[in-house]
Amino acid sequence: MLNKTEFIDQLREKGLKVTPQRLSVIETLMENRYDHPGAALVYREARKKLASISLSTVYATLKEFSEHGMIRALEFDRIENRYDLDLSEHVNLVCLKCGSISDFDLPCSIETKNIKRKAGFVITDTRMEYYGYCRNCMKNTLKE
Ligand SMILES: [Zn+2]
Repeated sequence: MLNKTEFIDQLREKGLKVTPQRLSVIETLMENRYDHPGAALVYREARKKLASISLSTVYATLKEFSEHGMIRALEFDRIENRYDLDLSEHVNLVCLKCGSISDFDLPCSIETKNIKRKAGFVITDTRMEYYGYCRNCMKNTLKE
């Protein structure tokens, strides 16, 4: 996962200016990197750093970062769209009750070369998700 300096370097490499708006979004993403934040959270937290930032700027900035491949957009039907800063191969565990998303490392990596050889399919992107209930929600269900 990129750190803040590397992220800013990427911004420059992609020809994007380092603006106060983009900086506040980057900092917010970094601080909440393990939570797979959505735009609402990013907006709420980024405003603490830059009061003038608007929700539409936050949306536009997140879209821009994901289009440039700096973050991964996770679109959902049932919950708010979220963003993943970890671009490496891993499984996202999505809780259907509270909407939390946590990372789970794959025990082994899938050889995409094999998929190309056997199925003739060239992989350009992956998104792995398991749906269910997180530890907290399971605990609360048992109490009820
Ligand atoms: Zn993740």
